[in-house]
Amino acid sequence: MSNTVSRADFDQVMVPNYGPAGFIPVKGLGSRVWDQDGREFVDLAGGIAVNSLGHCHPELVAALTEQANKLWHVSNVFTNEPALKLASLLVEKTFAERVFFCNSGGEANEAAFKLARKYAHDHFGADKNQILSCVNSFHGRTLFTVSVGGQPKYTEGFGPVPGGIAHFEFNNIESLKAAISDKTCAVVIEPIQGESGVLPADPAFLKAARELCDQHNALLIFDEVQSGMGRTGALYAYQQYGVTPDILSSAKGIGGGFPIGAMLTTEKVAKSFVIGTHGSTYGGNPLACAVAHKVVSIVSSPEVLAGVEARHQRLVAGLEAINAKHKVFKLVRGKGLLIGCVLTDEYNGRAREFLKAAEKQQLMILVAGLSVLRLAPSLVISDADIDEGLKRLEAAVAEMAAAK
Ligand SMILES: *Cc1c(COP(=O)(O)O)cnc(C)c1O
Repeated sequence: MSNTVSRADFDQVMVPNYGPAGFIPVKGLGSRVWDQDGREFVDLAGGIAVNSLGHCHPELVAALTEQANKLWHVSNVFTNEPALKLASLLVEKTFAERVFFCNSGGEANEAAFKLARKYAHDHFGADKNQILSCVNSFHGRTLFTVSVGGQPKYTEGFGPVPGGIAHFEFNNIESLKAAISDKTCAVVIEPIQGESGVLPADPAFLKAARELCDQHNALLIFDEVQSGMGRTGALYAYQQYGVTPDILSSAKGIGGGFPIGAMLTTEKVAKSFVIGTHGSTYGGNPLACAVAHKVVSIVSSPEVLAGVEARHQRLVAGLEAINAKHKVFKLVRGKGLLIGCVLTDEYNGRAREFLKAAEKQQLMILVAGLSVLRLAPSLVISDADIDEGLKRLEAAVAEMAAAK
C-alpha cells in the first residue's frame, strides 16, 4: 500500500511542540490499533485516558453517525437536543445542578477558574480573587490554566502570566492551611494527579480541603479531566472519596475520543455566569454531545463501573508479576484504570525509553513525568487484550533490563 503521508512529514509541516512515535495509526477497534503498514498494536494508552470505551465502539459510531445525518452545529444562539439531554444526564448522575459545555479540559478549567473569581467578586468583593492549586498539578495549556498548574516548566518564557495564583503541596494539609486565607476564592485539586505521576489524593486531604474551603468561603474545584468518567471505578472519583466539590471539570474520557469538555456546578454558583459573562462557539456542539451522552450512559452503568475494578486487579497482578522477575518498578499505584508504575532509582528519568521499547513490541503506553509509566486503557478492555498487553510489556521491560 502506498502512503501519501509519512511520519517524516510531521517535521516538515507541523509546529515542533510534540515528538510523536515513529508509526502512524490509521485504524482502531476496541483496544487494538493498526498502523500504516498494517502492524497491530495493543493500546494501553487509551488516547491519554480519552478512549474510555476503546476505538470505534459500535454504539458511539452509531450515535455519531445518527447525529451527523441530523444536525452538526447551531451555536449557542440556539440550544440543541443533544446538549440538553447530556446536561440532564450529568445532573442526574452527579452533584451538579448546572452544566457548561466547552471543547477541552483546559477550557473546562478556564471556565471553572473564571466562575470562581466571578462568584467571589459577586458575593465578597474584588479582593477575594486568589486561586490556590497544588505544586506539580496540571490543569491545561491556556495561559491561565498553566499558571494555575504548579509546573514552572510550562510557564517559562510565556510571561507575563496572570496573577492571583498561589500553590500548596498536594496531600499536605498543613501546607494548604498555611496558604488559604479569606482572599482565597477557590482551591483546585486533581483527586488523582495524572500528568505528574498518577498520585491519588489521601481521603483526609480532600476532606480537609472541603472543610478549609467552607471556613474561608472559598469554592472547592475538582479537576476530574483525567480521573473522571469511570476511570477510577466510579463515574467521578469524588463519589468514591465522599467529598463533594462546588465545581468539577470534566473532559478527556467524557467524549470517548470526540472533543468535549464540561464544567459541572451548583445552581447557586452557576448564577454568577449571567448572560454574556462567558461562552464558547462550539460549546454544546450537537455531535460532541450526542457522542458524550452515549459515553456517559454506558460508563455509568453498574456493570461497566464494577468491571473497572476487576480489570484493575488483573492489570496490577500482571504488573507485579513482571516486576517480581525484572525489578524495574519501585511501586505500582493509581486507582481503577489509571495506573502508574514508578521506576526504580536505577531507571530514574528514563520512562521514555520504556515507551520506545514498548513501541517495538507493538504496545502503546504512556509516561507521566520522567520516571513513571502510565496506563490508561479502555474501561471495557477485554481480559485477552490485557493479557496480551502485559505479555508485550514484559518483553519491553526484559529488553530494558537486559540492556542495563
Ligand atoms: C489533560 C488534562 C487537562 C487538560 O485537558 P485538555 O483537553 O488537554 O485541555 C486538564 N486537567 C487534567 C487533570 C488533565 O489530565
